[in-house]
Amino acid sequence: MNRELFESLLPLCRSITGNGVRETLALIAAEIPLNVVEIPSGEPMLDWTTPQEWNIRDAFVADATGNRLIDFAQSPLHVVSYSEPVRRTMTFDELRLHLHTLPDRPDWIPYRTSYWNQTWGFCLRHNDLVALEQASQPFQVVIDSEFSDGSLTYGEILVRGTGASNEEIVVTTHICHPAMANDNVSGMVALTAIAKQLLKHPVKLSVRCLFLPGTVGSLAWLDRNQSTLDNVKAGLVLTGLGDQNPLTYKASRGGKSRIDRVAQRTLLRRDPETRLLPWDPYGYDERQFCSPGFDLPFGRLTRGVHGQYPEYHTSSDNAEFVSGDQLDAAVEAVLDIISTFSNDIVPVNLVSLGEPQLGRRGLYSPLGGAINTKSVEMGYLWILSLADGNHSVDDIAAQSGLETSDVLAALDRLIASGLVSTT
Ligand code: ZN
Repeated sequence: MNRELFESLLPLCRSITGNGVRETLALIAAEIPLNVVEIPSGEPMLDWTTPQEWNIRDAFVADATGNRLIDFAQSPLHVVSYSEPVRRTMTFDELRLHLHTLPDRPDWIPYRTSYWNQTWGFCLRHNDLVALEQASQPFQVVIDSEFSDGSLTYGEILVRGTGASNEEIVVTTHICHPAMANDNVSGMVALTAIAKQLLKHPVKLSVRCLFLPGTVGSLAWLDRNQSTLDNVKAGLVLTGLGDQNPLTYKASRGGKSRIDRVAQRTLLRRDPETRLLPWDPYGYDERQFCSPGFDLPFGRLTRGVHGQYPEYHTSSDNAEFVSGDQLDAAVEAVLDIISTFSNDIVPVNLVSLGEPQLGRRGLYSPLGGAINTKSVEMGYLWILSLADGNHSVDDIAAQSGLETSDVLAALDRLIASGLVSTT
């Protein structure tokens, strides 16, 4: 793992817009030639509008003597993301309505956001709440934040493939969480490593790496790239790759995309403990890419699943929570999926309106009924029935139970007969 990048990204105060996102992308751009895109606030994007930009300089709660009891400088998690500016004195009871803690995990600071409902708040350790209540009042409460007509920022890099086609695989990660290691610095470090490796050793298909603020970033990218989405043959959403759980693959919306089968086979071959999940409408940016109008074949790769490990969205998702070995193994797995998908041989049936007449082409045993179910002849039938552009030779071998060598032998003869082509 690129420890230096990890440590420089970790403390930044990121949100869905603002300078924290720009600083993040600048650090990544020092590693790979990233194209940073700015979309002005207020621009329509699909059913949404680009939000105002949010920036924060300082925030604190101080006691009557000016002693800071909660301090944004200690951790950006102390302030609810997208908090409106505040500069007031108030009692504990007034302030309490704006305080968030985790009573079950009294030493952890929770992570909270309020992007679309204008409010403000502080997050703190539940154990510190008692001390706060007993401190000298009134409190000085300051959030020195600002909303402005700025822009939404994301990063993009297209690593050109060695093949001639415009087809591409898209890999995304979100870049909008402050100061948390697994969700989401691990995703950013992993995707940077993946892009770096592909720049050195490109695969046949092009690979587009997107560093997007969650939801709004993918909506903005989809909105701007609608005319070229036909080139996207597969996608992977990455995050949470450094914890101790095995890799977890969540299938695309239909669950029957080629990327689903490639990812599932590749991951299980690498680690039988891999967990496979069906589609679920809750999650990360796969929700946008897989929405019915786009219906892109996007799966998601994580280790622990959001909301299912206690450290999730808390200050305990810290540097110690992320293992460099786990992150490296995840990067290797993604590169394996990308190269397997890219190298797949995908037959396309050129005579798909009914079965082609095999006997006329010398491809069929002259005696009907004598077919050996494990023969090359079965290979013809399996290939012709699955050669819809969404099944590879590996898929056909897996589904038919035939040896890959038999499928390939049958494929060669079908190609020679002009019945099938390959991508
Ligand atoms: Zn999250």
